[in-house]
Amino acid sequence: MKFLVSGGAGFLGSHLVDALKGHDVTVVDDFSTSKYFSPPEGVQVVRQRAEEFQTSEKFDVVAHLAARPSPEDYMEHPVDTALSNSLGTYRMLEVARKSDAVFFYTSTSEVYGKASVVPTPEDYWGYVNPVGVRSCYDESKRFSEALVMAYYRQYGLDVRVHRPFNVYGPRLREDGTYGRVVSRFVFQALRGEPLTVFGDGTQTRAFLYVDDWVDAALRTIRVDEAKGQVLNVGSDVEVRILDLAKKVIELTGSRSDVKFLPRGRTTRRGGRRTAPGLRGCWGGNPKPP
Ligand code: UDP
Repeated sequence: MKFLVSGGAGFLGSHLVDALKGHDVTVVDDFSTSKYFSPPEGVQVVRQRAEEFQTSEKFDVVAHLAARPSPEDYMEHPVDTALSNSLGTYRMLEVARKSDAVFFYTSTSEVYGKASVVPTPEDYWGYVNPVGVRSCYDESKRFSEALVMAYYRQYGLDVRVHRPFNVYGPRLREDGTYGRVVSRFVFQALRGEPLTVFGDGTQTRAFLYVDDWVDAALRTIRVDEAKGQVLNVGSDVEVRILDLAKKVIELTGSRSDVKFLPRGRTTRRGGRRTAPGLRGCWGGNPKPP
């Protein structure tokens, strides 16, 4: 099969591309946030922003993952962020429509904003500030979902949407404004530096290993029941951040200790971010056209 993957050099995208071995794969990526990508043999790489990409080539599956998901990073690049999740989504949808392809979109748990329902099911609509500093990401992802569903309803395009929750694994950036808690803790432990726990560490997250996300993505792309579905994809096992720090120290055999810091800017909203779990995520979906 022929795949077009925007954001294929990023964390989720590169793992998806690895899993597509044996298929004809084209990656579109501007490499703005990618750090650990080396294209597998045979994969064609187009170095371009998703919103600028146009082609007359046809594909069987178009997967749109190009985005700047790290809060500090997207707040520094709000225009690029808003455009990849609006114009970028439009460009990729058009390629899919002209190809009569399956369109797979990775949205985000951030579409919920400050969620008041946790674990968060698909039929909860969220609580988002449309003009706040995070709106470049939250609102543009929400707009993308709306545009994807508009293509589904108006053109009958075969669309499938994921909202990944706290996915971690190799190639997740650990540095500066990009770092997420698992990769930061692992790198801090390996370097013998203190593990920086923001607040008292009682806040929780439910982490999903990237291979499980890839498995869910491939199944979502393959199975007919996923057509027109919007699915929350995550784990339902809650972990306290302080326990995560202790586990990382234990597993790495590090002599690092834990350093408590005031809640940092990378803390999203202090709330828990949990999806109902892989098995429970097939509900609350729109009707077919
Ligand atoms: N966190 C932490 N130390 C760090 C980075 C993050 O204690 O060095 C905490 C952060 O306050 C949050 C949780 O870990 O409660 C997850 O943060 P992350 O940035 O990975 O993702 P989020 O789910 O907040 O978007």
